[in-house]
Amino acid sequence: MPVCMGRTHAVMGAALWLAAAPSLADRLGQELSGGSLALSAFAASGAALLPDLDHPRATLARTLGPVTGNLARAVAALAGGHRKGTHCLMACVAVGAVTGLLRVKTGTVGMVAILFVLAYVAMLTLGLAAWKGRPAGDVILVAQATVVTGAGGFVCRGDWWWMTWAVGGGMLIHILGDMCTLGGVPLFLPFSRRRICLPVMGRTGSVPESVVAATGFAAFGVWVTCATVAGSPWWTLAWLN
Ligand SMILES: [Zn+2]
Repeated sequence: MPVCMGRTHAVMGAALWLAAAPSLADRLGQELSGGSLALSAFAASGAALLPDLDHPRATLARTLGPVTGNLARAVAALAGGHRKGTHCLMACVAVGAVTGLLRVKTGTVGMVAILFVLAYVAMLTLGLAAWKGRPAGDVILVAQATVVTGAGGFVCRGDWWWMTWAVGGGMLIHILGDMCTLGGVPLFLPFSRRRICLPVMGRTGSVPESVVAATGFAAFGVWVTCATVAGSPWWTLAWLN
């Protein structure tokens, strides 16, 4: 099964999280500063790559050579293969819950570690690194992830409520993305093995996938611009009135 959607997943994870997070914070009665929103977008973007850790050829599995390659083989064995156990709603809930548990047990230390890993893989996948593929580029990428993580420690001041949602939500965005390609995902495992599929994007990595993704982002950009110009919150329909 083709697995070359890494960059699409990372971009969708960040974009859809940015769109949803302010209203989520409202509903939960939580504070979400601009700084925390930006940091959480890195976390959601990285988490949107996690489900494909069940495939040794996926972008995430090739991040750290044999380390992530072997991890991917172990995850694939546990998950029952590619696009199986890591591509269902239950996986999002489970990984989100484990993240929440870590937040309670380890506080800032655990959250900073998670943010570092997710920011690193997100920036690597998005190509936000100078001299990609060279040792100097790797050092710069680690430095970038360290800066993001350091900002996390400074900006969040112990308030990491959003991490659970960004991790679970990022994974969900990935799974919904795969659901829109041929092949679909077993969304309701372990209760049903049926693959749910809305193939609006065609085969993974195909021209229709690129066209749908580009159109989606263009529409998203126009929406945010119109709402901002109208002086309304862009995550509501208020600017249409
Ligand atoms: Zn996938």
